[in-house]
Amino acid sequence: MDGYAVRVGDIPAVLPVSQRIPAGAVPEPLSPGTAARIFTGAPVPTGADAIVLQEDVTETPEGMLFPSATAGQHIRRRGDDIAPGDQLVARGQCLQPQDLGLLASVGLAQVEVYRPLRVAILTTGDELREPGAGQLAPGEIYNSNRVMLSAQIRALGMSVSDLGNLPDDPGRIGDALEEAAGAADCIVTAGGVSVGEEDHIRAQVEARGSLSLWKLAIKPGKPLAFGEVRGTPIFGLPGNPVSAWITFVLVAKPWLIKQQGGIVAPVSRYRVRAGFSVTKPGTREEFLRVRFVGEGDARRAELTGNQSSGVLTSLSRAEALAVLPAGESISEGDWLEIIPLSVLGDLGAC
Ligand code: AMP
Ligand code: MG
Repeated sequence: MDGYAVRVGDIPAVLPVSQRIPAGAVPEPLSPGTAARIFTGAPVPTGADAIVLQEDVTETPEGMLFPSATAGQHIRRRGDDIAPGDQLVARGQCLQPQDLGLLASVGLAQVEVYRPLRVAILTTGDELREPGAGQLAPGEIYNSNRVMLSAQIRALGMSVSDLGNLPDDPGRIGDALEEAAGAADCIVTAGGVSVGEEDHIRAQVEARGSLSLWKLAIKPGKPLAFGEVRGTPIFGLPGNPVSAWITFVLVAKPWLIKQQGGIVAPVSRYRVRAGFSVTKPGTREEFLRVRFVGEGDARRAELTGNQSSGVLTSLSRAEALAVLPAGESISEGDWLEIIPLSVLGDLGAC
């Protein structure tokens, strides 16, 4: 602090000022029976054991009057934060700005980090048109998964190899998967993974590798597929935009973070009372898009709107996912388990 370095044993007393110590200076030992003018960030002179704030010192006709002080006050001890041998950050921890500051504080200019994963993305669908590419023709919709996936992966600090959108053509899809497998550490596709005749992803994966998982008992997101193409892991996400988002965030994202060497933070769930009812129990675990209304005891999670897997507005407006176990219904006022979107956004990558 800005003030005076003193010996507690010398005060209260009028003391002469024997030296001036700005930050960055190397002080002389404190002469007994004197005080040293000192400023925040300056080293404390040998012999001094307290700092008296400048505003606590009184000018008197006899000189500067120092009140009594407690030993150690306003002094930061060397090593009071980090001891030799302490671990500063863990392997796999995402380096946040504060961690970079911590590393810099011990003089480290460089640290070894994992190489960003290269993730190839592609969407499929004859009906898809890129936003910005003009008006939709009859039967067309804009491709929303491509930009969503690209942003998800970039937010993880990984590099995106964007193969664009492919028509529902098995040959074209197969070629693209080969190309992606050769160039990327992992492939993420959206669409074409369900049971329709125009869903070609699974057959093309199996023709060039294998599927180890298809279909999860969750809603939305049921037709998720996972496997490998020529040894490169592939997530086949469903095409419905909310299903693609949910399966990416809940399944692909933690896997990708681990694959890159990162630590995945546990997903904290919280309890809040439902501000809505679900009367018909489902056969799959269901994730509902909710936001919070009210304060204290009146706090409730309410649905953000239409819960169809094709409706992005209710996801965009959501603050959390409410988790409804399979076979359960819910009445207004019941406790609900929720996962805040901020928790899912903060799983551990950079
Ligand atoms: P699919 O999984 O290919 O059967 O697609 C399921 C639904 O999601 C269909 O209504 C598609 O039109 C729609 N869909 C698929 N891919 C996308 C995409 N990239 N962007 C927006 N909607 C999509
Ligand atoms: Mg499709």
